[in-house]
Amino acid sequence: MTAYPTVKMLINGEWVADGGDGTMPVHNPATEAKLGDCPKVSKEQLDAALAAAEEAFPAWAATPGAQRHKIISRAAQLLRDRAPEIARVVTLEMGKPHAQALAETVGAADLIDFLAEEAKRQGGRLVPVRSANLLQQRVTQEPIGPAMLFTPWNFPINLPAKKLAGALSAGCSCILKPAETTPASAQLLVECFTEAGVPAGTINLVYGDPAMISEHLITAPATRKVSFTGSTAVGRHLGALAAQGLKRFTAELGGHAPVVIGESADFDRTVAACAGTKFRNAGQVCVSPTRFLVARGIYDKFVAEFARRSQELKVGDASSDDGVEMGPLAHAGRVTAMQDLMGAMGGKQGEIVAGGSAIERSGHFFQPTVIAGPSAESRLMTEEPFGPVAGIVPYDDIEEAVKIANSLRYGLAAYAFTADLDESHYLGNSLRAGMVAINHFAVGSPETPFGGTGDSGFGSESGVEGYLGYTETKLVTVAKS
Ligand code: NAD
Repeated sequence: MTAYPTVKMLINGEWVADGGDGTMPVHNPATEAKLGDCPKVSKEQLDAALAAAEEAFPAWAATPGAQRHKIISRAAQLLRDRAPEIARVVTLEMGKPHAQALAETVGAADLIDFLAEEAKRQGGRLVPVRSANLLQQRVTQEPIGPAMLFTPWNFPINLPAKKLAGALSAGCSCILKPAETTPASAQLLVECFTEAGVPAGTINLVYGDPAMISEHLITAPATRKVSFTGSTAVGRHLGALAAQGLKRFTAELGGHAPVVIGESADFDRTVAACAGTKFRNAGQVCVSPTRFLVARGIYDKFVAEFARRSQELKVGDASSDDGVEMGPLAHAGRVTAMQDLMGAMGGKQGEIVAGGSAIERSGHFFQPTVIAGPSAESRLMTEEPFGPVAGIVPYDDIEEAVKIANSLRYGLAAYAFTADLDESHYLGNSLRAGMVAINHFAVGSPETPFGGTGDSGFGSESGVEGYLGYTETKLVTVAKS
């Protein structure tokens, strides 16, 4: 049995269990049992965290990149060492199977390592001068200042790790506000950074009322950068607050990823990858494949095989059974959201060929669900489901598939499976998304940028972009005296 830690905030180097605004309970979504209490930060405590971040910033920004790299990569190693224990807490708090939680945690350590390395690599550049009178033109990327980081519950290690490592590697101080449903996961991650030697005040951690915290932090004069991962609606609101203060903003928002499946694709490999990836994390993934567009010649066979695989998935409480392949949804609200979506089905909205209902047991479970032939206007095909529901529709020619794929304002990930080289090039060029993967689903590696376009937000995290997002450009130009 994994022990659930006492949840604490980190303000100016002090671990604080007392929330100025009281506490809120944290539950295991698989059993609904209470795990513990999470402190709720008050405005006064937020001001203390802001003051700490502002005060710590100049010294951390001035710390040589090689030294920042040493400290941050030590945090990555601590995370790796503690991954099995931390992954158990992730499963307790948000329900994903242990193997997925472990892969997320170990993967986050690799991500932190990559971003820490950038602190050594980013030396700026010299620009050739235009006149003999000029001695040098030097362009550098300077740490932008205190960064406010807001992360959701679906990847409670990976998403905070991306933001923390980007901000700290670039030389920014920060305040992290993780999801209120997964506070201990973030706390264990932050502990790795403090134990690795990130100085007091440089990294702060708070929990509580998301709307109050985000408004207070984003509008604070000390704040220079805001990075948010979550829904499009909240992202739009936080973006407006950031814009008013002319603060840099990165937004990783919702998605409704299309998957174009051509007739030439290796059928067995493709359907296995599609069904496996769709239900990872119970579909609560911003890059989850959700709209399957299948060449008509293989459509019926694809629907039947996808439905069969969905029905065979082992669903249950992953905190007590390592054989579970799909856990619960993160909270009761997600089950209600799936039920509302199902309520909108029927008739031209499509045929439920697998699942379709909540599972009668304690915990927030919903069946892996497959809908065949939903109309283009159905809620399923137009609104991000963010749960274990897949829609499958046939197409007659590849241009039609691209038109359907590009018909929404979302543009995070898009996928295609094909063995036809021309089709592969055409799809790579014409699918409108921040990330296009062909013949696989892995869009989240440490080295590559992760981000979207349109209603899916802007700015990228991980890759070199994940470091540069916490910097601003500075020119120093020197003439002969
Ligand atoms: P929700 O909007 O209530 O909460 C999602 C997250 O946003 C939570 O972490 C919450 O703390 C945070 N949040 C909410 N209001 C906020 C505010 N005013 N300021 C700062 N943070 C705020 O929704 P939910 O039902 O828990 O999650 C489902 C929705 O969230 C989906 O529609 C999905 O698009 C979105 N989501 C997206 C991602 C992603 O990776 N892009 C991850 C999780 C959730």
